[in-house]
Amino acid sequence: MAAVKRTAPLPRIGVLALQGAFREHRQALERLGVTVVEVRLPRHLEGVDGVIIPGGESTTMAKLMRDYGLDDALGAFYRQGGALWGTCAGAIVLATDIVGFPEQPRLGMMDLSVVRNDYGRQVASFEADLDVEGLDTPFHALFIRAPRIVRVGPTVRVLASYEGDAVAVTADRLMATVFHPELLRDDRVHALFVEQVCCERPTTAA
Ligand code: GLN
Repeated sequence: MAAVKRTAPLPRIGVLALQGAFREHRQALERLGVTVVEVRLPRHLEGVDGVIIPGGESTTMAKLMRDYGLDDALGAFYRQGGALWGTCAGAIVLATDIVGFPEQPRLGMMDLSVVRNDYGRQVASFEADLDVEGLDTPFHALFIRAPRIVRVGPTVRVLASYEGDAVAVTADRLMATVFHPELLRDDRVHALFVEQVCCERPTTAA
């Protein structure tokens, strides 16, 4: 079982709780002993170090984000030094390029091209053991109508691949996974986000 190893105070982590698998992320973070905030409104971002954008339906989630002003608020949150992690639909929301859906609303912070539902329909969901950078042993990953990452920008580092495609990536206080690390009670990817991605300092002075 993962445990977050720190002497400094643990970060406060928000989970975007508009739609999708946010409860499971909350439970994973709570198992790590992290303070969790469900984010439904911009004011819930106060005092938060990192935010998880869960899996669900990326078009619905992005529309709700816009309705509640969370698109602008999360943009400001990131520019001011906050960290973001998108899982599955959340990875789509973070990507700059959603192939075939140029009009779909998004945050668009991570230099990635993604193709929605590109691993097959719901029935074609699958599981795989992944070698993830930073983890000692393979991580059993669940893919559910996952997007495929078809291009990774030069600033983005690949943390795990499946059959030649990046499936976990990171860049400058951002992380995206196209699988669902919140569903199987192995909390090591959550610990990576809390320990590493949330602790990165902004690389620009701006
Ligand atoms: N297929 C969904 C989308 O495009 C994502 C699926 C998921 O998050 N499990 O938004």
